[in-house]
Amino acid sequence: MSTTNTAPLASTASNVTLNQGAAFATLALSPSTLANLERLGYHQMTPIQAASLPPALAGRDLIAQAQTGSGKTAAFALAALVRLNPRRFAVQTLVLCPTRELADQVAVEVRRLARAEENIKVVTLCGGVALRGQRASLEHGAHVVVGTPGRIMDHLARGYLNLEALNTLVLDEADRMLDMGFFEDMATVIKQCPKDRQTLLFSATYPEGIGKLAAQFMRDPLQITVQAPPAERLIEERHYEVTRDNRLDTVARLLNHFRPVSTLAFCNTRQQCKDLVGALQGQGFSALALYGELEQRERDQVLAQFANRSCSVLVATDVASRGLDISQLEAVINVDITPDPEVHVHRIGRTGRAGESGLALSLASLHEMGFVGRIEQYQHRESVWHPLSSLTPSGKGPLQPPMVTLQILGGRKEKIRPGDVLGALTADAGYAREQIGKINVTEFTTFVAVQRDIALEAMHKLNAGKIKGKGVKVRLL
Ligand code: AMP
Repeated sequence: MSTTNTAPLASTASNVTLNQGAAFATLALSPSTLANLERLGYHQMTPIQAASLPPALAGRDLIAQAQTGSGKTAAFALAALVRLNPRRFAVQTLVLCPTRELADQVAVEVRRLARAEENIKVVTLCGGVALRGQRASLEHGAHVVVGTPGRIMDHLARGYLNLEALNTLVLDEADRMLDMGFFEDMATVIKQCPKDRQTLLFSATYPEGIGKLAAQFMRDPLQITVQAPPAERLIEERHYEVTRDNRLDTVARLLNHFRPVSTLAFCNTRQQCKDLVGALQGQGFSALALYGELEQRERDQVLAQFANRSCSVLVATDVASRGLDISQLEAVINVDITPDPEVHVHRIGRTGRAGESGLALSLASLHEMGFVGRIEQYQHRESVWHPLSSLTPSGKGPLQPPMVTLQILGGRKEKIRPGDVLGALTADAGYAREQIGKINVTEFTTFVAVQRDIALEAMHKLNAGKIKGKGVKVRLL
């Protein structure tokens, strides 16, 4: 399925042999880390982990080509954690990410991997949040900082963040940081890191700027390319011809016909997003919109509900969906055809990840046929058209998501951890582990998904009970 090779980028690149599907136990990791990986269900290394962990643990700088969903976070986090001294209260690992969503996801994964060791503190530093709280978190001691280049630069400039003890620098999704114009910011941050650090760069593509970063800031980097299985085979694309009048209604018909648990619906404009969400909600669907002007708090809430499977459809613009990483996405719907073929490929690539098959459904009206043609040329394949009459309602009524989100007013600031919430629902309230879904602790609030049939009762039980010895306020979202 995968091979490694060297692309003609860095003259310093060397070849590696791939230890595909190997057990983590073949690596020099502590018994507690290995036990934690087993508990997490990581029984074998993913291809990118098998290729990058041995040289990363040996201290090499790496340029690794990896997509979201490949297990790249664990690939760099395990290498960084091995070198981290929990008793030294200083930042030893810095991960630069293009977006806040990615930074949050990376922080979650690092915390999960770090829980095998002593108290390791992971702090996220991104824009859109007051500097003051972040400064306080840093003052309380942080071992790992994950953040976006601009905000990290701010903290460095103000002297809140000190990188003297840093030994691992990670540039995650480096191509996207370059796309977003972060080269100078990244350079400013990197120049403040100790020279004898290890640098691990992860990128899905190799634009020119990557070579520039490598030449300026990396030491003899090893280049790793793991070829992903061809995405096309796992994604089934279907096209439907619509008119301006029946476009939104066709989305509802697709949902009732295919009944995907999670669907990401792309629109070209914010107004189209709003109209579609209104139309879907009006028909009893659980749909939420994600667009640029949402406040960070609202955005967190929308993303939590979609990722924990308590919202069936997320309607988004391309810009708003950047950095979104939802692992189980049964369907993508192109409500409008994008004029940019690359964007189309990116959109449909959101489904059918990690060996799962996915459905990509596109709606096109006559005036969009030119865009469809461009996409066909770009993908070297013809569209397969299906008649609207093939969409038959399932007779089961509007699609309902399997889970419902409960919001607990209180989060990291109140020292709430996922285990506390799980304990309150299983040990105290008597539910089975399987009835509880994702638990998402943010700074001030916690989202927990529970099965639809127990949602109301679970909310009452949590409201009557205690978390961390204190009463809490809980509501249904
Ligand atoms: P990433 O590419 O880092 O976003 O990871 C994608 C998903 O794969 C995350 O949900 C990880 O928890 C999961 N994952 C990472 N490594 C492994 C592994 N070796 N086995 C199973 N799952 C993994």
